[in-house]
Amino acid sequence: MTDSNPELTAKMSSVTAFSSDDEKFMRRAIALAEIAESHNEIPVGAVVVYDGKIIGEGFNQSIMNSDPSAHAEMMAIRDAGKNIENYRLLDCTLYVTLEPCPMCAGLLVHSRIKQLIFASEDLKTGAAGSAFSLVNHENHNHQIQVSDGLLAAECSTMLSAFFKRRRAEKKAEKQARKNAPNA
Ligand SMILES: [Zn+2]
Repeated sequence: MTDSNPELTAKMSSVTAFSSDDEKFMRRAIALAEIAESHNEIPVGAVVVYDGKIIGEGFNQSIMNSDPSAHAEMMAIRDAGKNIENYRLLDCTLYVTLEPCPMCAGLLVHSRIKQLIFASEDLKTGAAGSAFSLVNHENHNHQIQVSDGLLAAECSTMLSAFFKRRRAEKKAEKQARKNAPNA
């Protein structure tokens, strides 16, 4: 996949300069998103990084776990907390392929994570500035550094392809029911 959307590419160049390590960690988050997709879950992946190393990983698994809280960020942060045996993720960075929702934004504040780097914006429910601004709300006593746009075109393409495929599958199912005898 390439960053072929000119609008997104233009936007990416106007945001923070990311390091090759940043790209490496986001690529791992994308690989995790692909695991979610292979389970027919919305493809979102996340990693928590401390001192240049991944200490937690997660992908969206809400449907397979019957757990509405099993978002990629939630899974990655739980994993990291267990691995370092600490409920605070001080000086850690979360890389995630999609802008966090309000629930995950709250979790990021509780975890005291230092930095959030996400790929695609979620204009409908994103809580890191798109629909809500919860990660840096002045009422919180913890503020998170936020950067976005890293590999955004790639992650947006993955999400839109997923939803397109799912819409087509639903349409086909509906059609099959219509055509079935005794329907
Ligand atoms: Zn979430």
